[in-house]
Amino acid sequence: MNRHPICDYENSDYQQSFWDSGTRRYEDLCEARAIARLMPRKGRLLLELGAGTGRNTLRYQGYGKIVLLDYSRTQLRQARERLGDSGQFLFVAADVYNIPFASALFDAATMIRTLHHMADPPAALREVRRVLAPQSAFLLEFANKRNLKAILRYLFRRQEWNPFAPDPIEYLPLNFDFHPRSVRGWLSENGFRVRDQATVSHFRIGLLKKAVPAGLLAYLDYLIGFTGNLCQYSPSVFVLAQSDGAGPAEPAGFFQCPNCGNPDLKEDPPASMLSLVCGECKKRYAIRDGIYDFKESLPL
Ligand SMILES: [Zn+2]
Repeated sequence: MNRHPICDYENSDYQQSFWDSGTRRYEDLCEARAIARLMPRKGRLLLELGAGTGRNTLRYQGYGKIVLLDYSRTQLRQARERLGDSGQFLFVAADVYNIPFASALFDAATMIRTLHHMADPPAALREVRRVLAPQSAFLLEFANKRNLKAILRYLFRRQEWNPFAPDPIEYLPLNFDFHPRSVRGWLSENGFRVRDQATVSHFRIGLLKKAVPAGLLAYLDYLIGFTGNLCQYSPSVFVLAQSDGAGPAEPAGFFQCPNCGNPDLKEDPPASMLSLVCGECKKRYAIRDGIYDFKESLPL
């Protein structure tokens, strides 16, 4: 089913080792401010791509319903434990290149700390555009290769690759930094207009983070971030894009079969396991512990 290599966080302790260890409080606060600055306050149905354990989910309080999509079931299980089962949240294990939802279903989407795992960003962005209705908001974060630290390292010959070149740099397998101009180009080629930009995490320097309280540092970061539309030299950049007017205005269904594209999946409760079944290709997808699992279909 997958044509693209995917960075899989299955069984990863990413939330605990990276976010909950305390050393990333500054980055987390910077992201909260960037979301508050750029994201429309209210909406009907939000798709969080690469939602992980739902670290950012409660920052979108004005949305009627939120779909948390991630490739890792274990990350989603942690998200469900954290957020509960109120019905406001839907947990979906799936691939960003093949989103199991009908075209034009969502009126907003976010993708934070996720594009940097994509070997084919234009294909991923095309798929995000498909599931958004016309004139919908899309908040995209990406890792910026043209950041100040990379530029200095390049100038002092501590680094081989050129931070000003437009091509992505893969610094670890399936971990990419992108040039801001390239990301804007991919957005406009795939049906988005850039509305606003914020530069984020300018002070991602160990010594500074130790010396200055995280809240104060994040506030200073927020002040500098206003220049985001003029220049981008921070390690992280947030772009608020808007989908253009093309495509259907109304969705033809809710879930869409990732195998054949049929937007008419029906819930089917056989005795053994709750699942969704495709009326066209007959593929069956499990619903386990409140998680809709499109990573693979069930054996027939
Ligand atoms: Zn199907």
